[in-house]
Amino acid sequence: MRKKISILGSTGSIGTQALNVVDKHGFEVYALAAYRSIDLLEKQTRKYKPKKVCIYCDELYSDLKDRLADIDVAVLSGMEGLCEIAADSNADILLNSVVGMVGLKPTLTAIESGINVALANKETLVAGGSLVMSAAKLNGVSILPVDSEHSAIFQCLQGNSSSQLHKIILTASGGPFYGKTIDELQNVTAADALKHPNWDMGSKITIDSATLMNKGLEFIEAKWLFDVTPEQIEVVVHRQSVVHSAVEYDDYSVIAQMGVPDMKIPIQYALLYPDRMQCPTKQLSLCDYGCLTFSKPDMETFRCLPLAIDAIRKGGIVPAVMNGANETAVAAFLKGEIGFLRIAELVEYAMSAVPFKEIKSLSDVLEADAAARESVLKMIK
Ligand code: MG
Repeated sequence: MRKKISILGSTGSIGTQALNVVDKHGFEVYALAAYRSIDLLEKQTRKYKPKKVCIYCDELYSDLKDRLADIDVAVLSGMEGLCEIAADSNADILLNSVVGMVGLKPTLTAIESGINVALANKETLVAGGSLVMSAAKLNGVSILPVDSEHSAIFQCLQGNSSSQLHKIILTASGGPFYGKTIDELQNVTAADALKHPNWDMGSKITIDSATLMNKGLEFIEAKWLFDVTPEQIEVVVHRQSVVHSAVEYDDYSVIAQMGVPDMKIPIQYALLYPDRMQCPTKQLSLCDYGCLTFSKPDMETFRCLPLAIDAIRKGGIVPAVMNGANETAVAAFLKGEIGFLRIAELVEYAMSAVPFKEIKSLSDVLEADAAARESVLKMIK
């Protein structure tokens, strides 16, 4: 029987690459959801004939419904629509590749419905990691990492006992501004940041990659996914993005996962797990690279990384605050409202401005997120 997949964020960078994998391996597409890319969502709906389709922006709902009037598909919208798709256990797996905190509720909904989640939405683990992981355990649901680093770690853990895991080595490309000084970063623009050397990604994650916040988010994501302490995670800059991360065991043996920098490999591993089949990508030629380099990250210049590490050490709502502040600051930077270095300043400000609280429920996370956004917006205005 063909595996049935639902994709939240089907028109984004991960979603479209996931559909390349679907084309190759003949999955049945059960449901699709997009934020606001209505043209592409319509095309995808005509091609894959899902049973349900959702547009997150409510104001586009009637337009989408009209466009799809000739097709037998349920048209949904908003958070309600995302959660209806997430809860639908006709799908064997939900790929959650939406950007930002928006993904948290659908992730929890899928888990509560007993559906395995291929998770590309790192912000949900950052903000609500404790909730997501305990719900997954309670419901016997697998969270399959899609992020390339976490997929690498997950692959390196296969066949070994995670109780003998000593350390995680989380690799980072260093981003488009690697090697730059604070002075040089003063006037960089969103367009400069969007030129990433190795990976082709969406705009939010590309800015996060430029500030190194992406690595900070991934640090927190790794802590939750693999149940390690912050002290067990080492960030290493590896410019070529060939070693996607590594794990060190108690005997100091280190196992790394390598491949060309192409998200289709980790996406396919999550969707086909535990099977391995030919992936629609290039093969790795180590000789073409010649040498691979490794170095320490510059945490003095790129403040977002140490801020994220600090946030997970503090725990409670602090990572959710950090994430909400970062999402708001990055949106402002993309609109040209603030400079590049302001992003870290605003994140740091929000982390000190929002009072500490432990997370007991989803509302604690949502309130922390809202308070962080508000504190950043107040500083920008
Ligand atoms: Mg990554």
